[in-house]
Amino acid sequence: MTEETKAWHVEECDVDYPGQRFLMLQEEVLCDIQSEFQNIKVFKHKKFNTVLALDGCVQVTTYDEFLYQEMLTYLPLCSVSEPKKVLVVGGGDGGIVRELLKDSRVEEIILVEIDKKVMEVCKKHIPSMGQYLDYKKVKVIVGDAKEYIKTCDDKFDVVILDVTDYAISDSDEENQLLGKDFYSQLKQIMNDGGVISYQAFSPYQNNDLLKTEIENMRAGAGMICYGYVPVPSFPNGMIGILFGRITKEIDKTYKRLDIPVFKISPKKAKDMGLRCYYDRYHESSCTLPLEFCSWFEEN
Ligand code: SAM
Repeated sequence: MTEETKAWHVEECDVDYPGQRFLMLQEEVLCDIQSEFQNIKVFKHKKFNTVLALDGCVQVTTYDEFLYQEMLTYLPLCSVSEPKKVLVVGGGDGGIVRELLKDSRVEEIILVEIDKKVMEVCKKHIPSMGQYLDYKKVKVIVGDAKEYIKTCDDKFDVVILDVTDYAISDSDEENQLLGKDFYSQLKQIMNDGGVISYQAFSPYQNNDLLKTEIENMRAGAGMICYGYVPVPSFPNGMIGILFGRITKEIDKTYKRLDIPVFKISPKKAKDMGLRCYYDRYHESSCTLPLEFCSWFEEN
């Protein structure tokens, strides 16, 4: 490849990463299509191996996706003792579903993904995630999760939002999954004491947005926690995960969920096929730099 023929994947976002640009050299583009909802691109990279980008933003790479998927899944899963029924919102790459299938406490998984093309592309080009969408315990619904949550009569023990950034932080309220009624709707579809998680920036990415997310979750859920994990392929090299316990009466003591109620020892984690999550890492991932501790101080 000469300098002229090098094809770079370029990622920039003025809201989340002002004045920054993240580049990956594409060895080969396996797929580059426009679906009804977004551009879907899969390419090969020397270090990160197979990379999925949606609307220009890297979502997962097969080199390091386990870090994100395991933590987004097991922080909430190990905060409840019986996560029998789990809802995955988005997650069309299949990675979160793969992680859920490793935990024998999980009996039923419903995944609501708006874009069926994402699932088709991942089954074909990233089977290490996509294949799990076809497992028996998994029911896939193609549709907008905003509508599903409003109308569903199921009750879940854990809800995991694995959605693109805009669904969390879009400035247009209409496009936001986490709109102002989100937590009251969530209460309708969750068993009392169930836990929700979603990816929420890194501590050094966009503090204003993160603080708003924390306040919203605190008002809606009561007991909350925030952990973060290094993910080398993500801009800034890390991602935060916000998770909270949904109770009928909001617990105003703001106790944190940083100690898992279900413990997975390092040995058990290895036996389950995990590469990142185990009980002590749950606690340490929720230990924040000093200057952020006040966000979670108990009253
Ligand atoms: N790991 C990712 C990241 O870094 O942001 C996210 C994974 S990606 C598979 C997220 C998926 O959420 C996309 O496939 C997108 O189509 C889906 N999605 C976005 N908004 C949605 C909505 N309202 N309902 C259902 N799925 C949605």
